[in-house]
Amino acid sequence: MAGKPANNAKKLMVAVIDGMKPAALTRTIDSGAAPTLARLLRDGYGSDECISSFPSLTPVATSTITTGAGPGRHGVPSMHWYHRAEERYVDYGISFPAARRSGLITVLKDLVYRINQEHLSKQTPTFFERLEAEGVRAACTTYMIYRGPHEHEFIGSGLGGRIAGVTGMSRVGYGPSELIYADIFDSQGSACRSSFSVPGRRDRHAACAALKLMENDAYDFLLLSLPDNDNYSHRIGPDAQPTSISHADAQIQKVIDAYGGYRAFMEDHAVIVLSDHSHSLVHESFDLLGMLRAEDWGIIQPRQSRRKAKDAQLAVSPAARFGSVYILDREHRGRELPLLVHDLRGQEKIEHVMWLNYGGGREAAVASGRRELRFAPGDTYTDSRGLSWDVEGDLEVLDLVAADGMIESRTNPDALGRAWSALNCEGLGDVLVTPRLGLEFLDWGGVAHVGGGTHGSLHTDDSAAQLIVTGTGDSREHQQAWSIGDVYSLVLEHFGIDPAPKGAPVE
Ligand SMILES: [Zn+2]
Repeated sequence: MAGKPANNAKKLMVAVIDGMKPAALTRTIDSGAAPTLARLLRDGYGSDECISSFPSLTPVATSTITTGAGPGRHGVPSMHWYHRAEERYVDYGISFPAARRSGLITVLKDLVYRINQEHLSKQTPTFFERLEAEGVRAACTTYMIYRGPHEHEFIGSGLGGRIAGVTGMSRVGYGPSELIYADIFDSQGSACRSSFSVPGRRDRHAACAALKLMENDAYDFLLLSLPDNDNYSHRIGPDAQPTSISHADAQIQKVIDAYGGYRAFMEDHAVIVLSDHSHSLVHESFDLLGMLRAEDWGIIQPRQSRRKAKDAQLAVSPAARFGSVYILDREHRGRELPLLVHDLRGQEKIEHVMWLNYGGGREAAVASGRRELRFAPGDTYTDSRGLSWDVEGDLEVLDLVAADGMIESRTNPDALGRAWSALNCEGLGDVLVTPRLGLEFLDWGGVAHVGGGTHGSLHTDDSAAQLIVTGTGDSREHQQAWSIGDVYSLVLEHFGIDPAPKGAPVE
């Protein structure tokens, strides 16, 4: 097939398997149920400690993968957050009952359009935008972040299309050259149907879209999004992931086979496979909202105006193993922040309470019960990502080990850099909280995943994702510490594009 990009690099396919746990991938490979992933790993290099964003939640992680930045720069805060300027909660579809409280149409508009056009910072271009600017033809299957320079008409057909027509969903999207997204955009006019994005069928839809793009030689860069594993793991648990990982493997295999098999495909393609975060097992859920109300805090409800919520001091966004608490009236922050921190620190089920102290300089604080750690960018210690910090207080709060000028935590990898980025994210709250391992917050719809898997915190069980890199140009095989944000530079470097600003901190 013809159509290599001008710089003569091979085509590149990035396959994202949502929530794939590295240990589960190893088990799948060992049992022979993921032959394609096994072969890609054998022929390339990889890491089972490719660290997610914090919060380790898909909208945030997807924004980090596509922009190379953390939430402090890319601006997408969480799965559920409070939009201070618009005085409302934003919910990207955390659960159906929660979405009903937020308003289904609002959720869909936030999920499909606003996350790309409004919430994701214009200061952090996506790899789709960078590639297209250099004449590399980019294509994307249904993926939360698809922002690019090309206009795509809404194509909703059947009942879905009619509903969209009357609800204002039928807007233009801006994506890469080629975009096949659920039943909403389809630049190829493919026959692929997403069946309303029913979990368990979405991987197949992505592969169908990839086949169409391949048939028409329509891409140099292809993002193949395989989301089904995440849903499966939420329901059945991370130990059951080998089933959904083998299904994802089969879809990648289908794409490779359609090109004439592995050898033919790899002759013309490089491949990156990654997960955006991991999963930990949940054995108990609890109600952050109820906990705060019991401490006499008034909380603004979804779809309640500030005017009607006169007694509310807080907005609260619980999202799996992460929670964001906002002090509504910023003039009261000085008085209310210490009270709020005190109440949250007193809760036995909460692992970490984090906030920013404003004073002589900006300083972050993380507390676990009575113990407290404070840190800020400085020059005392360097972390595994090459960022330097001044640290004061109890290192055990984050299980940090400091020696020979280096600082790192096995339990909470890249903890300082990731917590700093979250605390400096405009859309996150004044106080961030994570529950102890095995615990999860109920969302606004009262839903959690007890008996299943979930994610969100700094903990390695939520955060350590998988990376496999096969056939790209300059090898970074010897790189020690990986972040999912490194995929941005891997993609650009593959096509000979400088990912600059070089060495900019992932905030
Ligand atoms: Zn998930």
